[in-house]
Amino acid sequence: MSVAILGAGISGLSCAITLEKAGITPEIFEKRSCPGDRFVNAEAMFSVLNRPSGDTLDTLSEKYGIVLHPIDEVNKLVIHSKNETGAVEGKIGHTNIRGRHENSFESQLARQVKSEIHFHSTLTCEEAVKNFDHVILATGDGEYAMRQGNYRCDLTCTLKGATVEGTFVTDEPHVWFNYEILPKGYAWVIPFSGSEANVVIAFPDYPQTKIYDLDKMWELFFDLCQRNMNQRFRITDRFEVRNYVMGICQKPQIGNLFYAGNCFGAISPGLGFGQYTSILTGVYAAQAICEVAPYEDLVQHLFENYNHSLALRQFIDKLDDDGFDRIARASNVKLIETINTHVFGSDSNFDLLKWLTPFLSMKR
Ligand SMILES: Cc1cc2nc3c(=O)[nH]c(=O)nc-3n(C[C@H](O)[C@H](O)[C@H](O)COP(=O)(O)OP(=O)(O)OC[C@H]3O[C@@H](n4cnc5c(N)ncnc54)[C@H](O)[C@@H]3O)c2cc1C
Repeated sequence: MSVAILGAGISGLSCAITLEKAGITPEIFEKRSCPGDRFVNAEAMFSVLNRPSGDTLDTLSEKYGIVLHPIDEVNKLVIHSKNETGAVEGKIGHTNIRGRHENSFESQLARQVKSEIHFHSTLTCEEAVKNFDHVILATGDGEYAMRQGNYRCDLTCTLKGATVEGTFVTDEPHVWFNYEILPKGYAWVIPFSGSEANVVIAFPDYPQTKIYDLDKMWELFFDLCQRNMNQRFRITDRFEVRNYVMGICQKPQIGNLFYAGNCFGAISPGLGFGQYTSILTGVYAAQAICEVAPYEDLVQHLFENYNHSLALRQFIDKLDDDGFDRIARASNVKLIETINTHVFGSDSNFDLLKWLTPFLSMKR
């Protein structure tokens, strides 16, 4: 059986590892010169966004044999709104490195893969579909699916970030919702270590946000972030991503072609998380090839998660700074603090997004 995987990112490599465990050796085709050959950034996985799983990394390793090491656990998420600061505490997820770094998720996965990776590949999806029994499209974008009329784009967003030196607590990322500075968007600081972190702003490309100047927003946020964290940062690296597409395919499989990762629609429109779903779709595509179950059945719950996340996006869009102030303030109330710990905790499997969706979708 011949299997081609296009893209040596997190979904493609997870697929390869799963196939190899079943005795199948895929051929992996990567456009760039090494796994994770892009800017280095810090990302997060929160258990509450990936129900029914509890701890995401434990699930990946125990259920699917995909072993990944984080930067740290997240034991406290500090929430800043325009006038308030709150926090969700408990074991709520993990942070991790991506990109051109020896401990990035791509590098860790590549070390678990035995099959050959063809770098600088120019193999197209059309060629692969003709020449292989099965093809996994894991190129990190919905471009090919869109050309096939098999992908619905729900929004695009712009991200601008930097690596900074300062003083950080590795299990305490920070997040900001402040529409005065970042209309409809949000920002975060995820530490790489006690002395280095990633500072990022992200906002949807709506007509009303397109009029804002990205560099100006960045400067305003960077200033606020330094004030809130009570320090001055030194920038050592920068990145910018424009038109990052969030959408979902209509059919996860067409003939011998499987859509995985962002090509499937892994990235959630609510808050832009896509890592866990990317890895799962890679694993599921391999399982479908091994005839464990049809791919369409395996990914069904991911379509549902995507729709819940879309409802969350619509809800966030309707909030204003007063609303975010109320949420930040509420997280400091003892009872809500206790409930949050159970709802967000990795040892819970309460599907908050599923339960909230009918309320989030209500007209206000
Ligand atoms: C700045 C930023 C921050 C993010 N933060 C988070 C976060 O905190 N938490 C979270 O869960 N998600 C986050 N995401 C989303 C998450 O990173 C993605 O959902 C996930 O990486 C997608 O995995 P993938 O396997 O589809 O693609 P990738 O891991 O990007 O891999 C795609 C691979 O395909 C290769 N490729 C591209 N075209 C071709 C081609 N034609 N032929 C061969 N190879 C090709 C690429 O070079 C790359 O190696 C973030 C995304 C960005 C951009």
